[in-house]
Amino acid sequence: QTVPCGKFLCIVGSGPAGFYTAQHLIKNEPNIEIDMFEKLPVPFGLVRYGVAPDHADVKNVINTFTSIAKSGRLQFIGNVTVGKDVTLNDLRTAYDVVVLAYGAAQDRWLGIPGENFENVVSARKFVGWYNGLPEESNLQLNLNVETAVIIGQGNVALDIARILLTPIEILEKTDIAQHALQALKESRIRNVKLVGRRGPLQVAFTIKELREMIKLPEVSNRIHLEDRDYIEACIPKTSRPRRRITELLLQSANTKQAEVKDAPKQWELIFHRTPVEIVKSENQRSVEGLVVGINRLKGDNWENPQIEDTGLRETIPCGMIIKSIGYKSLPLSEELPFDHIRGVIRQKEGRVEGMSGVFCSGWVASGPVGVIASTLQSGHDVGKRILEDLRKGNCASSTEKPGRDVILSQLATKGVEPVTFVEWETLDNEERERGKNQKKPREKIIDVREMIDIAKK
Ligand code: FAD
Repeated sequence: QTVPCGKFLCIVGSGPAGFYTAQHLIKNEPNIEIDMFEKLPVPFGLVRYGVAPDHADVKNVINTFTSIAKSGRLQFIGNVTVGKDVTLNDLRTAYDVVVLAYGAAQDRWLGIPGENFENVVSARKFVGWYNGLPEESNLQLNLNVETAVIIGQGNVALDIARILLTPIEILEKTDIAQHALQALKESRIRNVKLVGRRGPLQVAFTIKELREMIKLPEVSNRIHLEDRDYIEACIPKTSRPRRRITELLLQSANTKQAEVKDAPKQWELIFHRTPVEIVKSENQRSVEGLVVGINRLKGDNWENPQIEDTGLRETIPCGMIIKSIGYKSLPLSEELPFDHIRGVIRQKEGRVEGMSGVFCSGWVASGPVGVIASTLQSGHDVGKRILEDLRKGNCASSTEKPGRDVILSQLATKGVEPVTFVEWETLDNEERERGKNQKKPREKIIDVREMIDIAKK
């Protein structure tokens, strides 16, 4: 059974979730053509603006996304913000199916005093800054400090620690934004401390990222293991990936200790600490330290122990704090059923609650968890549900939908300049060309106006 001809489908967001949903639909249904709306003039979401510049291999998924975009069955419509330039309701009026794959681009807050001090930033902003995200290009940072604290112990936290400590000769061969490279060249940061509420058995990073940290040239590590006997006793009960990470932590805590004094830079993993307050220096300008509560982990469930505050406090001196405590989404329209606590759209198997013909996939549905491969699964699963519903006639409406033309003329009336995939390729070529002069894979263009002008040359 195929989908009846003349059905119109659009996807909001051109990150992995959008592209993998499109991939499933295009591969499995000949009667489907897709429009993909993207807020920025450029595609690929966090693959361009999240994945670390030194993880070039991870960015190879862009080749897959490019072949989907050039399949002749997908139209990329960049530089269009849904919720501002067009509403969800406009899209529902024009299309039989709307897939929301707009990711999670907001910060979580710790809710402690001092979060808005100078030199306290979210990981999302910091990552956007070094990756050339237009809205973060002017982020005010002071890297003229010795110690940075990162709150959080996941992969994003390790990415940031690595970028802060990697020798410049390595970073300058990546596609890191020029302004960030310049600032990192002048950076005085030599200690990076990663603070977590729980213990070594609960770290949220993967072994690849841990290995990269351990192997950083001219950088030593301090891994504070207060309960080594307990950790060793738990190892046989853990899953294989968890066992490998824990063994590597134990081994590194043993062998690297001696080098700490000599290496010019170091990173530390500090466990069992809950941030309580951020304190400023006497001149009341920049951050001076992070006050943490010391925890004890309780219960037999080592995977998910209870955290008990011992009542003890200590201050970790630092001149910069980066909060890596997760991303969240916001609803892009008032009528969208939304779980404000988890920061995700309310949905079941990708079907948005109470909204026939509206689906969601990726981080906006699941929350900011998992890697690109998990988003692939989410995109393909949602693609399956969409085809099931279209084939059963579940997305049928009483009126025939007009499709893209009505939206494009609405955008033209508002003076919005949509960017096509071919135009993105012009911009892509220009970035690669500019990168060649500096032996970088590309020099990202940061200014949105300049991006559009080059794209439309
Ligand atoms: P996104 O990639 O965020 O895509 C959402 C898209 O929607 C964006 O292009 C955005 O501009 C667009 N959008 C937002 N709002 C609107 C709107 N209103 N209208 C139109 N468009 C809109 N995974 C790995 O496998 N390896 C890694 O090394 C890795 N590193 C990471 C590093 C960081 C710092 C982060 C945050 C994540 C990393 N990930 C990594 C995870 C990976 O990036 C995510 O799994 C994946 O990008 C989620 O895909 P998504 O499509 O749901 O969201």
